[in-house]
Amino acid sequence: MDLNFSAEDIAFRDEVRAFIRDSYPAHLNGKIDEGEELSKEDFLSWHKVLAAKGWIAPAWPTEYGGTGWTSVQRYIWSEETARADAIRLMPFGLSMVGPVIYTFGTPEQKAKFLPRILSGDDWWCQGYSEPGAGSDLANLRTKAERFTGEDGKEYYRVNGQKTWTTLAQHADWGFFLVRTDPTVKAQEGISFLLIDMKTPGITVRPIITLGGEHEVNEVWLEDVIVPVENRVFHENKGWTCAKFLLAHERTGIAGVAASKRGVERIKNIARAELDEGEMLLANPFFKRKIAELEVDLSALEFTELRTLAGESSGKGPGPESSLLKIKGTEIQQRITELALEAAGHYGAPYYRGFGEGDNEHPIGPDYTHRTAPTYFNVRKTSIYGGSNEIQRNIIAKMVLGL
Ligand SMILES: Cc1cc2nc3c(=O)[nH]c(=O)nc-3n(C[C@H](O)[C@H](O)[C@H](O)COP(=O)(O)OP(=O)(O)OC[C@H]3O[C@@H](n4cnc5c(N)ncnc54)[C@H](O)[C@@H]3O)c2cc1C
Repeated sequence: MDLNFSAEDIAFRDEVRAFIRDSYPAHLNGKIDEGEELSKEDFLSWHKVLAAKGWIAPAWPTEYGGTGWTSVQRYIWSEETARADAIRLMPFGLSMVGPVIYTFGTPEQKAKFLPRILSGDDWWCQGYSEPGAGSDLANLRTKAERFTGEDGKEYYRVNGQKTWTTLAQHADWGFFLVRTDPTVKAQEGISFLLIDMKTPGITVRPIITLGGEHEVNEVWLEDVIVPVENRVFHENKGWTCAKFLLAHERTGIAGVAASKRGVERIKNIARAELDEGEMLLANPFFKRKIAELEVDLSALEFTELRTLAGESSGKGPGPESSLLKIKGTEIQQRITELALEAAGHYGAPYYRGFGEGDNEHPIGPDYTHRTAPTYFNVRKTSIYGGSNEIQRNIIAKMVLGL
């Protein structure tokens, strides 16, 4: 692929910049820079602006509402949104179940779900992991038993428990992996179900993270009745959808553009004068860590560009998505480590929950206030989407042929 921007690309970049400047919701300004926890309304307000513009799903085929951008335009888009500190869009509908539905779904499923994913009318959550089925996902035990209802229609009765379900407290719909045949090899007895989260029998219980946030949940399913028409792809072939979705999820997790902005932010902090009148960036040890980070980030960026180029020529993300996931998340973690180091002693106090009013009177400069919670939060990135150890196993097998 040609990495030099053409005149059209530069015009596109200017159009994107102007659009973000004029249309990004004012109440969201500064929220990413300050590492604030985002509400459902925050996510949706930016989502709806992009949906109205027709720019909500750059990676989707145009027939389903994609933008038809080239890989360079998509790269420019992610660069510009990160540069503007725009909030990241929720991936569960746009990057996970949406591609599964337009690839494997029936015409009815496409017509019912895709427009509402694009518009933001449905918030989705991902029901894959279970206690005892995380890395070993095929070990999942949530079972779906098929039966004919009194109305003569076919249904599944679903029972089981999912865990770590991100933002399920907001979800209208969830995509779930369930066991429909316990008698065959683990991967062969799994189906992919779309479940309305308001169905009786579903209970969502919060798990509060080390950073003090309500980001993940347990989801319990007790005699949840799901129409068979909500199954995507064939019965017992859900593993195919599951693997397809995970490759998309991993590529998205790399977050190169956001990491570039993160490095910039640390440099700005490190340029600020310390108490003794010195800059942290003048410290050769700190400077070296920043330089090493930038070199690794640059290498990752080229790998991501290669994957993007492959995708635009019709190749889905393959095992290289594991590589992007490992390096991308390691870099994200290193950024939060350096931010903590740059914040120095102001990074230590963790004021959330110390008592009412403390959030309004935190100690130290503004940029330090969310350093510790963000550091804790970002530990998750090497675990979710399939832990980095598991990604190394995939690379060993699929890329190195070991
Ligand atoms: C913040 C957060 C959000 C999440 N959101 C979601 C969500 O929305 N939906 C969802 O379905 N899931 C979600 N997950 C779950 C996530 O996918 C799992 O946590 C992950 O797959 C790891 O599974 P586990 O936690 O059961 O750990 P385990 O599988 O028990 O692994 C424990 C440790 O052992 C290592 N390990 C396990 N097997 C091997 C092996 N074969 N070789 C080498 N090392 C191994 C792992 O790398 C890990 O370090 C989320 C997780 C987190 C932390």
